[in-house]
Amino acid sequence: MQAATHFIGAHVSASGGIANAPLNAQKIGANAFALFTKNQRRWQAAPLCEKQIESFKQHCDEANIGHNAILPHDSYLINLGHPDDAQLSRSREAFLEEMQRCEQMGLSLLNFHPGSHLKQISIDECLKRISESINWALDKTQGVTAVIENTAGQGSNLGHSFEQLAQIIDKVEDKSRVGICIDTCHMFAAGYDLTSEAACEQSFALFDKQVGYQYLKAMHLNDSKTPLNSRVDRHHSLGAGYIGQAAFSFIMQLPATRGIPLILETIEPEIWPDEINWLRSQTKLLDK
Ligand SMILES: [Zn+2]
Ligand SMILES: [Zn+2]
Repeated sequence: MQAATHFIGAHVSASGGIANAPLNAQKIGANAFALFTKNQRRWQAAPLCEKQIESFKQHCDEANIGHNAILPHDSYLINLGHPDDAQLSRSREAFLEEMQRCEQMGLSLLNFHPGSHLKQISIDECLKRISESINWALDKTQGVTAVIENTAGQGSNLGHSFEQLAQIIDKVEDKSRVGICIDTCHMFAAGYDLTSEAACEQSFALFDKQVGYQYLKAMHLNDSKTPLNSRVDRHHSLGAGYIGQAAFSFIMQLPATRGIPLILETIEPEIWPDEINWLRSQTKLLDK
């Protein structure tokens, strides 16, 4: 069998235990997946036990899904740019724990939302805190890359512009262990047009110029229920929203998307197998 060039999957359920996530990925024909390694709405989690980890790894092997195609997502409660020092350290501790879980599971990426200033500190100060949080956690771990997700820019969430993402990376000491996950819905909601091939070309060239493709470590492939620059984060099925299919075809043919996890967080899990097949068919256009 020829090795796959594109790792395509969805954010699957890990309910009943992390070992179920690769099984759920396999069921929908995915060769990549995202998961929460703990309840994403709680601070506390029981530590992973050896047995769970072993069976997780075994199921990944059976599904032929490698660590570079798996994108764990951290808890929604974590704010690595928190304006309050005590809250910031709580977030940092929780983030470190997430990184350690990845280490234990043999995973190499951890996807997270950069942080929010909560209208209490300046954007620059908040971005600096985020970089420092990343430095702090990278210092205490090995082999896991901190993958910053671009946001829709809702409320006081930072990381919606490429400039802000670049600013965070700029202050990270170990540049070999920091990267970006571009969510297409967030990108579009933040004002980057994706509605035609020409628009995609422009928007992605801007990303390459301001951040650099060498930092692109993953993508979330979602259409958007809200229009360009809405600053509102509402996912839709591919082709059903304001972005449209052209963008996803463009992305699958972009050399930078080879070999990184491409994850659906679209709203109809029943059609994930079709969405995955369609995305895969778009990579074939490359060979023509
Ligand atoms: Zn996310
Ligand atoms: Zn979103």
